[in-house]
Amino acid sequence: KGHVRLEDVRFAYDEREILKGITLDVAPGSTVAVVGPSGAGKSTLARLLFRFYDVTGGRITMDGQDIAQVTQQSLRSAIGIVPQDTVLFNDTIGYNIAYGKAGATKEDIHAAARGAAIADFIERLPDGYDTRVGERGLKLSGGEKQRVAIARTLLKDPPILILDEATSALDSRTEAEIQATLERIERGRTTIVIAHRLSTIVHADQIVVLDSGRIAERGTHAELLRRR
Ligand code: ADP
Ligand code: ADP
Repeated sequence: KGHVRLEDVRFAYDEREILKGITLDVAPGSTVAVVGPSGAGKSTLARLLFRFYDVTGGRITMDGQDIAQVTQQSLRSAIGIVPQDTVLFNDTIGYNIAYGKAGATKEDIHAAARGAAIADFIERLPDGYDTRVGERGLKLSGGEKQRVAIARTLLKDPPILILDEATSALDSRTEAEIQATLERIERGRTTIVIAHRLSTIVHADQIVVLDSGRIAERGTHAELLRRR
């Protein structure tokens, strides 16, 4: 489960073509990293995968099914997204972890927090999982917010993960810590990582370099380094 294929995918905002024919096969459970300069179309590509936008040409399939034929609801349950800047609701930290997962039990929420390595932090808060966070509550650091997003994803347990510059806004030490947690949750899931530095995606099975909406290069990390 979790076989993602892009077949000559094109996308245009108004008249301007941003993605100009992307073909990519992501094997179930593997990790593909998409790198490239700012403006290359990486985020746009990520957004096509969860149908924030629809392709304007070609198609995207998941397990052989064109995602244009899949309901938003089943697409949402199949895909977990960790964005660059997680925005939390002005509610409790427990609510933020459980968001999007109807019927999550306390045990589920605590297990997800442990998996995201934020359980100890939460348990030390005066109100624990009932602590209010967000603008009108406790301010979490960038790394803590990303861990809440990771816990939310673990609770959902999707076969497909999209990490859209999930560590780019963090200082290098926090980035390394979050990176280690992400690599753990990637195991067994098909993962599309959007990144801008090659050094953060050494573990990817496949790297594609996007440039001006086209795949300029593809290979493993070692292969790409050898060609430089
Ligand atoms: P990357 O993630 O590689 O930096 P993006 O996918 O964000 O690239 O952007 C690719 C191109 O699409 C850029 O030229 C950007 O200005 C343009 N773009 C992004 N979002 C929109 C939008 N909502 N409307 C019009 N153009 C956009
Ligand atoms: P839920 O299960 O609550 O629907 P999802 O992870 O499916 O949560 O994300 C819900 C919505 O959040 C997406 O459909 C999209 O509109 C928005 N979203 C999440 N991550 C991003 C992102 N990186 N860029 C733009 N929108 C995003």
